Amino acid sequence: MIYAIGEILIDFIAKEEGKLKDVREFEKHPGGAPANVVVGLRRLGAKSALISKVGDDPFGEFLIEELKKERVETKYIIKDTNKHTGIVFVQLIGAKPEFILYDGVAYFNLRKEEIQWDFMRDAELLHFGSVLFAREPSRSTVFEVLRAVKGKVPISYDVNIRLDLWRGREKEMLKDIEEALKLADIVKIGDGELEYLNKNGIALEDFNFALVAITRGAEGSTIIHKDIRVDVPSFKVEPVDTTGAGDAFMAALLASLFYMGKLDILEFSKEELKELGSFANLVAALSTTKRGAWSVPSLEEVLKHRKFSFLP
Ligand code: ATP
Repeated sequence: MIYAIGEILIDFIAKEEGKLKDVREFEKHPGGAPANVVVGLRRLGAKSALISKVGDDPFGEFLIEELKKERVETKYIIKDTNKHTGIVFVQLIGAKPEFILYDGVAYFNLRKEEIQWDFMRDAELLHFGSVLFAREPSRSTVFEVLRAVKGKVPISYDVNIRLDLWRGREKEMLKDIEEALKLADIVKIGDGELEYLNKNGIALEDFNFALVAITRGAEGSTIIHKDIRVDVPSFKVEPVDTTGAGDAFMAALLASLFYMGKLDILEFSKEELKELGSFANLVAALSTTKRGAWSVPSLEEVLKHRKFSFLP
């Protein structure tokens, strides 16, 4: 079982072009990066579960129902009786993406004493991102979980920087990212985010990762293991919506480790890195041809485009 800890929320995506202030209609989609990853994993055939918190409200109910439809394990999702389910309003059409991310929501209120530690009985990997670090008590809760599982199962981290959550507190954010990088075995980061970290004195070479994936949008990705580094070209598609491409990539990367039987020992040959990079690029590219963040194709669909030696 692959677990992720982090936000699950509703993306209200603008249906028409223009500034958020002028948009009249929004479409409701389930989202939140860690939730996108567990759904992607399940579609690719790996068992997954989400550790999170929603409100005791209709949107929370909707999100749990949607995860159940995807056959993701939901028993580690707590219902908050004080805070509402997280929501985001997004404008992705036109030149400049705009977001309003609501604060004071249930996933930021995930408390240490609410963690059901029996998840460790069947956990084979734990995945997380940076969003829950932006507020307390979720920040302390995630760090506590990471420290408890470190060395027991591999930890995977999608750095996923959301600067709007940290206005005026960027130094604090960088400290948390550095701390999180120390705990991670597998790291995924966008090339723009890596540049930002480098500019602020954080270099990936200073950590001890088993696997690093740098995503480069339409340019593909770079996969690094020890001193082996491979640049993997992207799969050419006509994208209609790139929301969640990074999460689709992440899900495919973790699914490939599962199929390769690498979750115990993270050791790779150059050929294996090329194959897992191509698989992740293909899944991510296909995800951009569908709307919404839950756009990972099934394994059967992926196999129509290319065969991979590690897949059944
Ligand atoms: P996000 O922007 O979703 O938070 P990210 O910055 O990590 O995530 P990208 O680097 O934009 O994500 O994309 C992840 C992967 O998706 C890329 O490495 C690539 O394989 C694939 N991808 C993204 N955009 C395209 C595209 N236009 N054509 C083909 N593949 C793409």
